[in-house]
Amino acid sequence: AKAAGKRQWCHYRPALQAGLVERHELNESLDEAIAEAAFALYYQPIVDLISGGLVGFEALVRWPHERRGMVLPEEFISLAEESGQIVPLGAWVLERAVAEAARWQRQTREERAAGGRGPLRVSVNVSGRQFRDAGFVDTVRRALDQSGIEPSTLVLELTETVLMRRDERVRTDMQMLGDLGVQIAIDDFGTGYSSLSYLREFPISILKIDKSFIDGLGHSQQQYALVEGIARIADTLGVQVIAEGIENTVQRDLLAAMGCPLGQGYLFARPLTTDQAGLLVQEDARP
Ligand code: C2E
Ligand code: CA
Ligand code: CA
Ligand code: CA
Repeated sequence: AKAAGKRQWCHYRPALQAGLVERHELNESLDEAIAEAAFALYYQPIVDLISGGLVGFEALVRWPHERRGMVLPEEFISLAEESGQIVPLGAWVLERAVAEAARWQRQTREERAAGGRGPLRVSVNVSGRQFRDAGFVDTVRRALDQSGIEPSTLVLELTETVLMRRDERVRTDMQMLGDLGVQIAIDDFGTGYSSLSYLREFPISILKIDKSFIDGLGHSQQQYALVEGIARIADTLGVQVIAEGIENTVQRDLLAAMGCPLGQGYLFARPLTTDQAGLLVQEDARP
């Protein structure tokens, strides 16, 4: 990224200069969008692979842009991280997501309890910059207070890069989040600087196995062995595993058979609008 940044200044590369102007424009309209909270949250179901029942949703942000259409997070999250805009954006996402979770929980508490199932949970992605912001823990606390949801039904998804720093701040913040009672998941497990020692050092209760491992499950013995190994170790440590990017029944069945009972992916549902998610919640609660 550094090298690309330098190259943008070469006068004989008009295409890349255009890219810079575009970035600038995107940055400015990102500011406006944050001021107006002009984002949309989508919700991808997380399901029990054996029963097909709903366990919760992962909140995924989108940016409906007047000229660009629905802009996906890949195009603006890193930009927002560089500029620090991710801090207010992330706070908005957190607030929206727990408010939505409170609604699902109110609507289905009795039915789910009668079926022996706990309240629906919501997962929220947290970027490194956002986690390192001094106000982060307070933002989480406030979101919990405002929504009134049971803290353990909020899952914060962090990537390994955040934990890699291992400095005192990371340690105390993780401890404070643990004390609040929220669950912490390691996102994209296996793609970064994976170290199982994170699981001992921090109050982590969920591992999300990255889609790149799930892709090869049906045809690569090595991938299969890896996923099975992760599932077994997680189980020994009392950590839950969620498989991401499940696209076919072969993957689903292999995961279920190896003792990895939770997952998400296009096989079950794409990220849904608030309304679609609400309908699914009601449908799932029906006996
Ligand atoms: P992620 O956390 O790994 O989220 C999963 C991504 O995989 C989502 O893409 C989801 O739509 C996609 N996906 C889910 N199932 C399947 C499948 O079966 N097949 C395929 N091909 N893809 C699947 P999305 O929504 O574009 O999000 C991309 C990334 O942007 C996320 O990756 C996450 O890192 C980041 N992101 C999204 N929302 C937020 C947010 O509110 N805050 C922060 N900090 N990052 C976010
Ligand atoms: Ca995630
Ligand atoms: Ca992920
Ligand atoms: Ca991923």
